[in-house]
Amino acid sequence: MRTAYVYDPIYLEHDLPSHPENAGRLRHILDLLEKKGMSARLTLLQPRPATEEEVLRVHTAEHVARVQQTAHADLGYLDSDTYVVARSFEAALMAAGGEAVLAGEIANGFALVRPPGHHATPTRAMGFCLFNNVAVGARAALASGKAERVFIADFDVHHGNGTQEVFQDDPAVFYFSTHQYPHYPGSGHWSDTGRDAGRGTVLNVPLPAGVGDSGYARVFAELAWPLAERFHPDLILVSAGYDAHWGDPLAQMNLSLTGYANLARELVRMAGQLCNGQIVFVLEGGYRLDVLAHGVLNTFYALLGEDETLDPFGPSPRSEPPIDTLITRVKEAHHLN
Ligand SMILES: [Zn+2]
Repeated sequence: MRTAYVYDPIYLEHDLPSHPENAGRLRHILDLLEKKGMSARLTLLQPRPATEEEVLRVHTAEHVARVQQTAHADLGYLDSDTYVVARSFEAALMAAGGEAVLAGEIANGFALVRPPGHHATPTRAMGFCLFNNVAVGARAALASGKAERVFIADFDVHHGNGTQEVFQDDPAVFYFSTHQYPHYPGSGHWSDTGRDAGRGTVLNVPLPAGVGDSGYARVFAELAWPLAERFHPDLILVSAGYDAHWGDPLAQMNLSLTGYANLARELVRMAGQLCNGQIVFVLEGGYRLDVLAHGVLNTFYALLGEDETLDPFGPSPRSEPPIDTLITRVKEAHHLN
């Protein structure tokens, strides 16, 4: 199985250099992959714009029209921190299409797309996100018949409120999120476990500020693994945000690059054990550029099944708070033990 990545230069044209979510993020990633000889080892998969049908499986026509209206216009804002420039609509369609292509066709890879997606709800842009790329990808995989059940793991430091909203009543898609709590966007309480037919298919792990490598490892071992085994997916998608690193400027968590690489390896191992190795990562946040680039590089080592991890920044200098009570509550909410 070849490891693939999705990329197109249009992803650099959604840009506002003074904003933390700018094109420099992707440039840093591509530069490091090139410098370390990683790009040459991967298959580049050319994205295409998401079709109307694909986007409408997740978003309302009104939301799509609102984003489209910003095309070719000057800088504008769709919410207080979500900018749009002349080519943002095209970039966002290509980001969703890139994830749809990768999730629908290739079993092992990483969609290096922008703008990010997990805050975008069915009806609106939010938190730097225009269209929900991972949600479009999940629905594309389900529609293609390649998968009947999709497990989404979201290790971005922020709760993917948009992804939860899309899938909370859908029994075919499991949504698992670790996030700093309380923090932006405010959602993601452990008692939110899904609704109606989707009850039990949302796993929220709202972590106090300061949790790092050992806390995250416990969450994966004691909560994510047993629930993924219970759900038994055909495909794993990962909302990969690297803003839970201890050096990230937008949050206060304590993961190291080594801790992140261990999470990526756990997810690849989970895919190997549960769904024939089918796993696709998609880029979400991460705002310290050198950390972000190394986080993505290490994820490719994990996808390739290699032990290499580059961690020039080392472990967090701070200690972690206990999470025993939280783990117990989440277990009770999901009838584990
Ligand atoms: Zn984030």
